[in-house]
Amino acid sequence: MRLHIGGHYWNYSEPRTIHWEGHAIDGVCIRSPRREIRVSRRLKGRTKAETQLHELTHAVNFSSSEQWVTTFSSAATALCYSGGVGLCKTRDRPSGAEVLRQVLFHALRIGRHDLDDDHHLQTVADDLTRALLRLGWRQTRK
Ligand SMILES: [Zn+2]
Repeated sequence: MRLHIGGHYWNYSEPRTIHWEGHAIDGVCIRSPRREIRVSRRLKGRTKAETQLHELTHAVNFSSSEQWVTTFSSAATALCYSGGVGLCKTRDRPSGAEVLRQVLFHALRIGRHDLDDDHHLQTVADDLTRALLRLGWRQTRK
């Protein structure tokens, strides 16, 4: 699947196993030789959702800090699930976009208050929202 993130196309795949420097890992975001995001097919539910957002956050290139990306993706996933939006198996009509946009935008604002650029933050939040909807994030309760 191709995802458009941060002005670039990324190839998204879910292989059975992902190895990095001799260890099995849940996900990875690679810039070269071509842009790729891989998330382990063995992950399920919320763990998979958080890993997806984690790797997408690397792709938007918003912070080079692994700890920042980990904290942001964990917190934003928790808020989305609290708001009734999460990764679903069904590929029905997109829903939950507004919750995703708002949670991501405001989590970015808090996390990167130093940027003080709401327009840019909204662009990043919109990018992430579109990608998550393509990956199957949906409203889980009405
Ligand atoms: Zn990471």
